[in-house]
Parts: sequence; C-alpha cells; structure tokens
Amino acid sequence: MKVLLRGGQVFLDEQLRRVDLSLVSEGDDSPLVVDMIAEPGQIDPSGYQALDLDGKLVLPGLADVHVHLREPGFSYKETIPTGTAAAARGGFTTVCAMPNLNPAPDTLEELQTQQDDYAARALVEVFPYACLTKGGNGRGELLDYEALATEAVGFSDDGFGVQSETLMGEVMTRVAAAGGIVAQHCEDLELSGDGYINDGEYAKTHGHIGKPGASEWTQLERDLRLVQETGCDYHACHVSTTKSVQLIREAKAKGLPVTAEAAPHYLVLSDDMLQDNGRFRMNPPIRSRADMEAVAGALVDGTIDLVATDHAPHSAQEKDVPLKDAANGVVGLEVSVPVVYTHFVRNGRMTIADFIRVMSTAGRERFKLGGGVIKQGIAADLIVFDPEAVGPVDPTQFLSKGHATPFQGNELYGRVDLTICQGVPVWDPGSLVFSSGSEAEGVVR
Ligand SMILES: [Zn+2]
Repeated sequence: MKVLLRGGQVFLDEQLRRVDLSLVSEGDDSPLVVDMIAEPGQIDPSGYQALDLDGKLVLPGLADVHVHLREPGFSYKETIPTGTAAAARGGFTTVCAMPNLNPAPDTLEELQTQQDDYAARALVEVFPYACLTKGGNGRGELLDYEALATEAVGFSDDGFGVQSETLMGEVMTRVAAAGGIVAQHCEDLELSGDGYINDGEYAKTHGHIGKPGASEWTQLERDLRLVQETGCDYHACHVSTTKSVQLIREAKAKGLPVTAEAAPHYLVLSDDMLQDNGRFRMNPPIRSRADMEAVAGALVDGTIDLVATDHAPHSAQEKDVPLKDAANGVVGLEVSVPVVYTHFVRNGRMTIADFIRVMSTAGRERFKLGGGVIKQGIAADLIVFDPEAVGPVDPTQFLSKGHATPFQGNELYGRVDLTICQGVPVWDPGSLVFSSGSEAEGVVR
C-alpha cells in the first residue's frame, strides 16, 4: 500500500511545515512507514493513493497518561476495544491505563495477564499502571515494586489518595529504589467527608454537600515533603486547585522530580457552570472560577506539564441521574482535543507546538513511552486534524461506552479525521486510507 498525504501542514522538528508525506507498507498486513518527506508537489503521485489535505494538519499521535479502560472487572462501563476505539477517534495513539480494576494489578502475574489482554484487544498502544498499595484503595500493604516496575508505566491507587503518611513515605522510598514513578490521586478522605461537588457557591445555594479544595492540596503538600525526603519521581494527577498549582510551582523551583496533569474539565469549567446532572460529577470536582483560571494559567506557563483526560466511563444508569446520586467520572478521550484546541490554541493562548507538548510529548517523556514523532523510516504514528471543523459535542457519536461529559452540546473547533497508530489506520471514518476496499483488522469507520 502506498499513501500520499499532500497539501497539508505537517508537524516536524517542533513546527508546522508545508510538506508532503508518503507512507508505504510492504504488504497489506505490514505497517505503513514514513517513506519520503518532501517539498509540496515533489513526490510523483502515480502509484499512490493521494489524500488532499488542504487546510488540515498532520500531527504526531497524541498520548493520554490517565485513562480508565475498565477491564477486567467493569466491562459494562467500558471494554478495552471500546475505550481504545475512543482513543483512536480522539487522536490518541498511546494511553496509560489506571489500575482500579478487578482483579487489581498488584502482582506481576496479574499485570502480565492484563498486558496480554491489551496486546490482543487494544486498537492503540496501552501502557498499564500497577497499584500503589495492595488492592489499590490507598490503604493497602506494600507491593513488590521492583518486579512490577518491569511492566508498569507507573504506580497509582487512582480514585484514592494514600491516606497514611507513614505508608506513603515507605511506598515512595521503595518505588524510588525500583526506579518507578508515583502517580498520585491526592485526596484526604477525612477532609472530603461526604462531599461530592466543590465546596463553593453552587453547593451552598443548591443544597449539595461540598468537598473542599483542601482535601486535595493538603495531601499534595504532604506528598511533596515526602518527595523531598525520598527523591521519588512523583506525578500529581488531575490538579484542580489554586493552592495545588502553587505547591507544584514551589516544588519545581526546588528542583524536585515532580510533574502534574490537568484534565480538560478543570481547565475550562467552573462550578458556576454546574447543572444538576451526573455528567458534571467527577473527583476531584469542577472547582471555582479562580481555581479554573489558576489551573489553565499553570498549563500555559508550564507549571502543569500536560493534559490527561481521566477518561472515566460509567453506564447511563450511573450517570444520567442528579449530582448527589451519580458515580464519579466523565469520559474525555473524544473531547480533549477539541476542548484544548478551541480554548488554548485557536484563541492564541498556546501555539501548536505547545499543544503537541501538553497533549503528547510531555507525557511520553515523563513516562518513557517513546513515539510521538513523525520521522522518515519509522512506522507512521500520526493524525490528520482539521482545525476548522466545528460543531457541537454529541455523545451519541462516541465510540466509548460512556457518554457522560460536561461538554455535551458545546460548540468546539477541531476534528480528528484519521488516526494511524504504529503504521495501522485505527480511525478512518472517511475511508481516507481504505477507499480501495482493502481492510485492516480492527479499523474503526
Ligand atoms: Zn483520580
């Protein structure tokens, strides 16, 4: 197969360049490899299937370091095929899967079983996290981090913060010795109490139980102290408060090995926009306008390193209910690109190079995932992106089994028209690559 991507702008060497790309595979079952990168019109199109990409961008495949694929244990919420199809549709060729599963990957054996499942059933590349403590609920015993580190991309009890300082200190000492990284969901459960949305104006005026920002940042503050003592690599998940941003800024200024992520909803939504529907409920909750602005500003200035979706699908029964009754978590893989593109790139707050950094490179580097470059001689791992496509977010179109998103109905710019993961087209709704009727196993159209 020979494919010519022509007329678009390609992200090469940290900038958009007007070049044509040819992709060639040796047989229909072999991956498409970037064969030539040339000035526009320089590649003779005869023998190629040519895609005219006028006005479109060719970007490296994106990476999301925080997703929940829900298998094993919760396949009624999501499966490996549906979650990774959502990733492909969203422009992500690499995702890191959180371990709050049943059974939880707290032994090397279980982690390997899950790895085999990803290898057999995932459409995009999946790197799994292992648990931080036995059972993954923030209160368990220590694990064999040395063994788990051979397979795990990082360690997390996501959904729960590790409650005991002594336990967390011990965990960090051992994870550091194993050369691993802790990805922590910061939450002091005593401070959270029964709260389920931000402890702010909306909660007060609408009779909801609030969860204070301190439930996040007090634990982050404790952890950063432990990072200083242990030297453990530490990644703060889904940062949501002004104070957390400050703490991370200070930790980085001290040279601590700390990174942080923000999810799309903390970047552009605040609790004055809440509606009494489960699609506005997640943990941590959408915070105040001041918090939102602090988190967004931190993404722009680099204090927060990257965007990760915390894609957390649930069934309609769990989400299409009032806030107080809903499960925590919203889907993100199919909205992250248009949200970040519209709110940060299109309005000039960030460049396209910044976009690639926060949506791909920063996560790939921090978690040693590899990939993320368009380069001659290696398998194509890229997306075709139409920055002018605009429309409302329509969850009925999602490939994820989860449909709950606070962005439902928002008019957003930017659409992924094609995703090629490791040389294999995995999202090709317009039959761009497979117009001749050839089939690749697993391609979503
Ligand atoms: Zn979490």
